[in-house]
Amino acid sequence: MTMLSKEELEKRLVFYRHYFHEHPELADHEFNTTKTITKILTDWEITILPTQLATGVFAEIGHSDGPTIALRADIDALPIQEKSGVAFSSKNAGVMHACGHDTHMASLLGAAYLLKQQERDLKGRVKLIFQLSEEDNEGALQVINDGQIDDVDAILGFHNTPNYPVDHIGIRAGITNGAIDKFKVTLHGVGTHASTPDKGQDPIVALGAEINALQSIASRNLDAFQAGVLSITHVSAGNTWNILPDTAFFEGTVRTASKQLRQLIKTRFLDIVNYTAKAYQVAADIDWYDGDPSVNNDAKLTAIVRDESSKFATVYEQEQRLGSDDFSCYQERIPGVYANIGNGETISAHNPYFKADDALIRVGVKYFERNALRLLDEL
Ligand SMILES: [Zn+2]
Ligand SMILES: [Zn+2]
Repeated sequence: MTMLSKEELEKRLVFYRHYFHEHPELADHEFNTTKTITKILTDWEITILPTQLATGVFAEIGHSDGPTIALRADIDALPIQEKSGVAFSSKNAGVMHACGHDTHMASLLGAAYLLKQQERDLKGRVKLIFQLSEEDNEGALQVINDGQIDDVDAILGFHNTPNYPVDHIGIRAGITNGAIDKFKVTLHGVGTHASTPDKGQDPIVALGAEINALQSIASRNLDAFQAGVLSITHVSAGNTWNILPDTAFFEGTVRTASKQLRQLIKTRFLDIVNYTAKAYQVAADIDWYDGDPSVNNDAKLTAIVRDESSKFATVYEQEQRLGSDDFSCYQERIPGVYANIGNGETISAHNPYFKADDALIRVGVKYFERNALRLLDEL
């Protein structure tokens, strides 16, 4: 195993991050990424663990005589054509690391290298989870079903946060991120000639009414101090100018920060869609998908991570936000902490102009390494 100085390691991690950025892969298709991570870890003599999954990498450092702490980084990219203009822009047309998961991977690799150096002194085991498919909210469940967290006592993860300085870490005990639900609705009317709407049942007018009525949930049903969002993100109906179609479609998502609100919005949604459809004489086919729960940080672990992180970064009280992360699936089973590491000034994630700052990798490495050591000491 080659010994790297601190500077050499940092340079190497930036190089890896740029490589991942140039070669992004979509959720569930992270084949080259998986191969690359496996090769790097193997070169560092880190033990790769068996898995039934086609993508994602699981590895361990240390020994089973003590607690097991898992460190998780997500590895997938998004179906976006990059326009950031960075020198290491995506070479994969229509795919981009627009959520900064490339920096998460580089951070976890750095921590893995450093922990491997201290392997003999570890007071237990560190498990590395390079998780597939975060963006489609299915990866964490696949990892769980693969048995990868069965022997894990606690789990740590983070996400980069645009528009916070790179040496700032946001941490909050309890619920930090929103629960995510998804819906698809097809309205069935009766198609007819555009000149004789009375001979059919127009689903397009019903669609317009549905969209407006659904927006009243956030403004009329929610306590002004509670956080909830309902967004309709895709509509479609018809395909020409003189035919009223027989169906219209819309889909979207609901984000909420409490269980009660989650239920309230779902109940109101179903009522509004069904009764509005009835009022407009069309039938509604509703598919509702219960998605991931809220990210919910364990209070005891959060206190430890907050204390340790404040030794190498500025820690602030993270505000609640409605973006989701399937890290929450782990937290339904084992205690965990999910923090937000500043990513400097940039446009928000999931945007073609999004940029992640290489400098956040240094903080990400420390977040994983130092907190893993501390938790091994204290659990
Ligand atoms: Zn994302
Ligand atoms: Zn992300």
